[in-house]
Amino acid sequence: MSATWRDLPGDPGLERTSLANENGPYVGAEQRTALRRFATDPALDRLLGELYRGFGPQRWWPAETPFEVIVGAVLTQNTSWRNVELALGELRRARRLTPARLLADSEAALERRIRSSGTFRAKATRLRAVSAWYLERGGLRHLRKAPLEALRQDLLGVHGVGPETADSILCYAAGRRTAVVDAYTRRILGRHELADPTAPYDALRTWLMERLVRSQAVFEEFHALCVRAGYDNCKPLARCTTCPARTPAALAS
Ligand code: SF4
Repeated sequence: MSATWRDLPGDPGLERTSLANENGPYVGAEQRTALRRFATDPALDRLLGELYRGFGPQRWWPAETPFEVIVGAVLTQNTSWRNVELALGELRRARRLTPARLLADSEAALERRIRSSGTFRAKATRLRAVSAWYLERGGLRHLRKAPLEALRQDLLGVHGVGPETADSILCYAAGRRTAVVDAYTRRILGRHELADPTAPYDALRTWLMERLVRSQAVFEEFHALCVRAGYDNCKPLARCTTCPARTPAALAS
């Protein structure tokens, strides 16, 4: 029988690792020096290099502990980061940002705290499920050491965790080299005619995993740069003239 969060001593949500900056927000360990190479595919490498040089290092994910990354990854489903920040602020003020403390909260209280993130009842259920899973598996140590693909499948079995949430958790909370695919990624890769934007999630993830340089910092920056470009320029109507990336021929003509 597997352990439950009630059986475990301490609170693994408080653990810090070399991936966490003890003086503040979580930052990738390899982010101290500028990145020079992003991908083995020359066109993808050029695109990411242009975004990186134009926007600068994004240094995701802004959070004080890996568990806070996990909470943020669930809360950000179908809502803006601004709304997530409000919910995280409520949880932080109530000192609920560890899995044991979050699970100790009443259902009504947890729903009230995360109300700003939208669909709060569903998200409260998902947060409880992922918190219990995190504790049952033994916390961050397991997430950092377990074989990646088996761990990913295990995480995908948690209620409310889809591939984008799972890869966000594994990349940014656990420091694993897995590519996050979101709507911005699809749009940017599609507009630059690098990959089919309508391809299934796992096909695009595999395409990226085969091409991104095997560096944790590259995987972290890759998704962060796609989000930044999507927020600032690569909107439904592309703003290529002010984007650091070179305008694709299809949009320039
Ligand atoms: S806005 Fe234009 S140049 Fe920038 S990433 Fe999108 S398609 Fe590329």
